[in-house]
Amino acid sequence: MASETISGETTTGKTRATQLDQLPGTDVEAALVADENSLQWDDQFDVIVVGLGAAGVSAAIEAADQGSKVAFIDRFEGGGTTARSGSVMYAGGGTALQKRLGVEDSPENMFNCLRHEVQDAVSENTLRRFCEESPGNFDFVTANGTRYSGTLFASKTSYPVHGHSLYYSGNELIYTQDATPAPRGHLADGIKRFTAFGPAFIAPLIKSALKKGVTPIRRSRVSRLIINPCGEVIGVEAQQVAGGWVGFKHKILSTLAAYAQIYFAPAAKGYRKKLFAIEKHYAKPVRYRAKGGVVLSAGGFILNKDMTEKYLPKFQRAMKLGTTGDTGSGIALGVSAGGVAERLGTATAWRFINPPVDWPKAAIVNLQGKRYVNEAMYGAVIGTRMMAENNGECILVMDKPLFESSLANLNLKSSRFVTWMQAKTAVRTAKSADTLEALAQRLKIDPENLKQTVADYNAAARGEQPDAFGKQPNDMKEIKQGPFYAINMSAGKGDITSVISLGGLKVCELTGAVLNQEGQPIKGLFAAGRNAIGVASNAYVSGLSIADGVFSGRRAGLCASQLAQGQDIHAVTTAEQQDPQPA
Ligand SMILES: Cc1cc2nc3c(=O)[nH]c(=O)nc-3n(C[C@H](O)[C@H](O)[C@H](O)COP(=O)(O)OP(=O)(O)OC[C@H]3O[C@@H](n4cnc5c(N)ncnc54)[C@H](O)[C@@H]3O)c2cc1C
Repeated sequence: MASETISGETTTGKTRATQLDQLPGTDVEAALVADENSLQWDDQFDVIVVGLGAAGVSAAIEAADQGSKVAFIDRFEGGGTTARSGSVMYAGGGTALQKRLGVEDSPENMFNCLRHEVQDAVSENTLRRFCEESPGNFDFVTANGTRYSGTLFASKTSYPVHGHSLYYSGNELIYTQDATPAPRGHLADGIKRFTAFGPAFIAPLIKSALKKGVTPIRRSRVSRLIINPCGEVIGVEAQQVAGGWVGFKHKILSTLAAYAQIYFAPAAKGYRKKLFAIEKHYAKPVRYRAKGGVVLSAGGFILNKDMTEKYLPKFQRAMKLGTTGDTGSGIALGVSAGGVAERLGTATAWRFINPPVDWPKAAIVNLQGKRYVNEAMYGAVIGTRMMAENNGECILVMDKPLFESSLANLNLKSSRFVTWMQAKTAVRTAKSADTLEALAQRLKIDPENLKQTVADYNAAARGEQPDAFGKQPNDMKEIKQGPFYAINMSAGKGDITSVISLGGLKVCELTGAVLNQEGQPIKGLFAAGRNAIGVASNAYVSGLSIADGVFSGRRAGLCASQLAQGQDIHAVTTAEQQDPQPA
């Protein structure tokens, strides 16, 4: 599934025949092939950015900085899932914030750590570039208004408490043999104290883009690309809801739907129904011409039911984390022009077990009573293994001393309210028994398997044998003193397991140009963020998706601008093809 490839055809004609049926529910029409002078255009720009999240805003600012006339088109108000995120950006290699807080890091050190996560999603050279450019990308973000005034949160946590701007947001404390641990989770000022979600990262960037003259085109769903008979993308067609009272209702409903999806998903359905009815009845087609290029940055596809059923069947029990625009339409637009979608079966599921800080010292088992992960790893490693390989089963097993110390450590000094409340809720569902056999019976798992698992775990915790999952003895606590406790954290129980999609369009890693089946760039078409395969397309650690959005968005914005200025940017694609080795 992970290598599933969907591509468009290369026929020409009035419309282009494509494999859009492989991307159900994307609401995208086949690209329109037309002579540009015969079409009626509503406006013209050098660069058109489709979708204003982390990737889109970075592309728009970069293109504007290059002197291009830029517009962003967003189906809603802009901000996307980035504006409902935790606002963490994974950055390192010696960022200004790392330096201010006395953290030593280098691009090489960052590379050595990150290659464990990224693996073959991008080439080694691209990952190196990502690490080398990371301090500059962080400067780009701060130069455009995002602030980081807090301190370092030095111990491991899923998400730091208020007042901290830097923390270990991935597996930096795990890959210590290859890289010196350095905190790289850069958390923007202004995140909501209660929920830890919000527009802290992106709101200043949108403001900056507008200040730099980027034209906002809101309430406009790009429904098809316009290409010329040579196969070059020359513009977009969008379905636009006008301003006034209808536009206001559209804005309110899209905002309510975005909030509801995160906090109470069933309510979001009702808002979306009304929102779609407005779009259906009031939207009118508009066409915008792009001299340099169109950047697709319209997010992932996790809220597209048909696509997730087709490509992510094992993740169905997890909560779909995203906003209304996450329908995969940007990916489909790319395919409609001959692009290739890959890794659609790759997703990241999040099952955080820290705080309390002691829980990662316990053992996680499935319903066979077998372990499947190093519990000290980042929650997305746990969640993804749990969903992709273990049927969503996750039972945390510990003994009395660990259960009691974890309760003592569960407080609002070291955890955000939401994570504290989720852990408290999970504790209430704990089951206990005096023996492991009795506990296994209560959990309906094989007692012999559980006993053997615990015996192996204890031997590794004592340092008598290496742990099968590479967990270090100081990250483990023996499970030996009854009563024994089990907390069922399987998908759909207690705490929440959530999921986002990671697949996207195959792009040239030097320019961000969308590649066709032959590996050649489609002139005038770029992709970034979750519309493109990038550093976050194998696995996720906190902040990697936003960081990838900045990296790939700037790359696309720069190259689209250069194309508008008449430069031959596609010559580099050939050079890139000679660098196929994975990271
Ligand atoms: C609760 C939550 C917390 C998260 N926390 C983090 C975090 O802290 N750090 C991190 O790195 N990642 C985090 N993520 C993941 C991350 O937010 C997303 O993967 C990332 O923001 C995607 O950025 P993007 O620019 O690709 O797309 P988005 O931010 O989703 O932007 C896409 C935009 O495209 C628009 N759009 C869609 N279709 C069309 C169309 N046809 N025409 C016009 N416009 C369109 C949408 O309206 C949207 O505004 C989190 C996700 C969630 C849900």
